[in-house]
Amino acid sequence: MKIGALAVEPVHDGYGYEPGREVLSRPGVSDAWACHEHLLDDAGNLELTLGGFLVRTGARVVLVDAGVGTINNDKYHGGQFLESLRGLGVEPADVTDVLFTHLHFDHVGWATKKGEVVFPNATYRVHRADWAHFVESSDAEPGAVRKLSPLADRAETFESDTTLAPGLDARHTPGHTPGSTVFVVSSEGQRALLLGDVAHSPVELTDPVWEAVFDVDPAAAKKVRSELVDACTDYPDVLAAAHFPPGRLMTVGGERRFRFLEKG
Ligand SMILES: [Zn+2]
Ligand SMILES: [Zn+2]
Repeated sequence: MKIGALAVEPVHDGYGYEPGREVLSRPGVSDAWACHEHLLDDAGNLELTLGGFLVRTGARVVLVDAGVGTINNDKYHGGQFLESLRGLGVEPADVTDVLFTHLHFDHVGWATKKGEVVFPNATYRVHRADWAHFVESSDAEPGAVRKLSPLADRAETFESDTTLAPGLDARHTPGHTPGSTVFVVSSEGQRALLLGDVAHSPVELTDPVWEAVFDVDPAAAKKVRSELVDACTDYPDVLAAAHFPPGRLMTVGGERRFRFLEKG
């Protein structure tokens, strides 16, 4: 994906599967998936791509999210992140920054491994509200605390919308999690918005009132999605969510559609 002079490259880690009808619904409609069956597999599952993005900007080698890790269970299969990164010519020690859209397990898998940081020279950046929610809070999940606490002395949290690297801006979009952040990549008048889990399927972008069971604050998540969708429909901005291929929002015949980017 070329954004002006910058390349935004997917770093593949694996796949996840979630039952579409159980995790995403549209209030007031009994089977809202009926018109979107093509987005589910034969078993009714949503296939989630897992991984992150690599953005090289100036001297910085930036990862946005760090995959699911070596988890291999009935729903989530990771493990390929570091190989994918090597395929793009990047060794773990080359990474200067790891930015997290949020701190759910499927975005921080390669942050640490057995208590050791995986990217030894990187600064880890995340919104303060997610660090508080997932690491510092008294009811934080033990698994998340174990995974993330080794980052404590290399993590830099941010609290306001800010530029983190040339052409890379953070925009706070709370709802999915308290500190959820969209990273805006911009160069030469072109933009890509790295959405994290603002949406898990294109259905939430074409119709932002859909609800995901993963959203910590569903009302806030819906508000963020609606504003983003309104601001991006019929604009050339590329929307790149964490779990489905990138595309653009456009109005076709009076209806909002999400059109995946052409391959190649
Ligand atoms: Zn998430
Ligand atoms: Zn996710």
